[in-house]
Amino acid sequence: MAYDNQNIFAKILRGEAEAFTVYENDDCLAFLDVMPQTDGHTLVLPRAPAQDLFDLEDRLMASLMQSVRHVARGVRSAFSPDGIKLMQFNGEAAGQTVFHLHIHIVPCYRDRQPQSHSREMARAEVLEQHAEKIRTALNQL
Ligand code: 5GP
Repeated sequence: MAYDNQNIFAKILRGEAEAFTVYENDDCLAFLDVMPQTDGHTLVLPRAPAQDLFDLEDRLMASLMQSVRHVARGVRSAFSPDGIKLMQFNGEAAGQTVFHLHIHIVPCYRDRQPQSHSREMARAEVLEQHAEKIRTALNQL
């Protein structure tokens, strides 16, 4: 399957769709998942049009993982979770629903079960509040 540049993350990257951005650099963009499994659930993606893990050149993959760790530090500092889970799906059979490579950063809490994948849309005011918390935390790292 060829990369479809009409996918929602491609639209966000082009500025054609809104996102609650928490971090960006020349190679990557990070924003909140609109159907978060827990508070602070963030997605990090390369700007390059890569469909999945196998579609991104090595240098950009390394850059993506550096951004993932940087953003995860911000999420950890903003939400103080008990743990942080990274997830990444390749292909529909594996659970991928948006076909632009992205890595999920999911804060985990001992006393709270995460919501199911892509289940319930969070309110925009709450997402904006959470994005601001992460941006502030990243500025203070
Ligand atoms: P995947 O299964 O492809 O790894 O996950 C795609 C993720 O994107 C899901 O967790 C889903 O909640 C999230 N998502 C779907 N549509 C949008 C959107 O329009 N904006 C944002 N920020 N996240 C989205």
